[in-house]
Amino acid sequence: MTSLDDLPIRDDLRGLTPYGAPQLDVAVRLNTNENSYPVPEPVVEAIGKALAAELRDLNRYPDRDAVALRADLAGYLGHDLTVEHVWAANGSNEIQQQLLQAFGGPGRTALGFVPAYSMHPLLAMGTGTRWVPARRGADFGLTADEAVAQVREHAPDVVFLCSPNNPTGTALDPAVVAAVLDVAPGMVVVDEAYAEFARPGTVSALAVLPGHPRLVVTRTMSKAFGFAGGRLGYLAADPAVVAAVQLVRLPYHLSALTQAAARAALAHRDALLGTVAEIMRQRDRIVTVLRSRGRRVADSDANFVLYEVGGDQAAAWRTLLEAGVLVRDVGLPGWLRVTAGTPAETDAFLTAMETL
Ligand code: PMP
Repeated sequence: MTSLDDLPIRDDLRGLTPYGAPQLDVAVRLNTNENSYPVPEPVVEAIGKALAAELRDLNRYPDRDAVALRADLAGYLGHDLTVEHVWAANGSNEIQQQLLQAFGGPGRTALGFVPAYSMHPLLAMGTGTRWVPARRGADFGLTADEAVAQVREHAPDVVFLCSPNNPTGTALDPAVVAAVLDVAPGMVVVDEAYAEFARPGTVSALAVLPGHPRLVVTRTMSKAFGFAGGRLGYLAADPAVVAAVQLVRLPYHLSALTQAAARAALAHRDALLGTVAEIMRQRDRIVTVLRSRGRRVADSDANFVLYEVGGDQAAAWRTLLEAGVLVRDVGLPGWLRVTAGTPAETDAFLTAMETL
């Protein structure tokens, strides 16, 4: 049998394993920050109709520029954004890959403040971009001074900020984004995959887009919209950034079916986003109960919670799995991450946690 090592694969890919959380068949799956609620029936019907309307024309390529979908996304975001400011792709992972293809690449550097979203360094690797893991402060926080010093030191071509941050859950102080924008010599990408779950008072980087052509805000329909299987991510930025990613995107990257399904989902956003308030209640409940049990828990603006198990988190992860609850070991010694889902899932998780 031929093995991967027998192939003339890139040296930097040798010995690696593909990224991905375990997809285990467990009753309570709280490991990938999905929305636990299924798509509501009226939205299922609307998406079905929208897909049916496309089928006869599948002999043709889709709209390469996804103009109607981008206009809908701009309308959803508000902030006076228009179709020219928005670009869409198959998940925000693909958006960020396109950004690195356009602004990173061989001889260039991307920097992120770890722990943050683990795909950022992997996308850097895949695009031949050198990755700089910058540090966070105490309790995974990040101050403007800490961020500025490291951006100055490394002068990266791309800075990733993640707000709310995965895996910690906490949103960034807008002063950090402003300070990084002031000193970064290249692009500043703010990954806002979980923006819709942020606690009141949190500010999106969308508000500072005007006048900052090197700022990019990435979003996704995978989380709050409960549309992870639909694969739709997007960015908002200066129109020049949209022009830049169009240089590297594959032609027809967004299928006609994806575009139609996403537009139907967006048209029913009130129904889809109707689960956000309940998920935030479960998130806050997890934080409160775990703290009342004496555990350290990071503040969360997302649909997940990072909490301290103390000791060997891999062993704690297995104990919870044996109790029928799948959470995420993000590789932070002593900490685990759990997604906030339905009240029943929270019950099961909090009960399983009593066995630790
Ligand atoms: N950014 C962050 C911070 C995430 O946690 C995720 C999903 N885990 C993504 C981006 C990617 O989401 P998608 O590709 O589904 O839009």
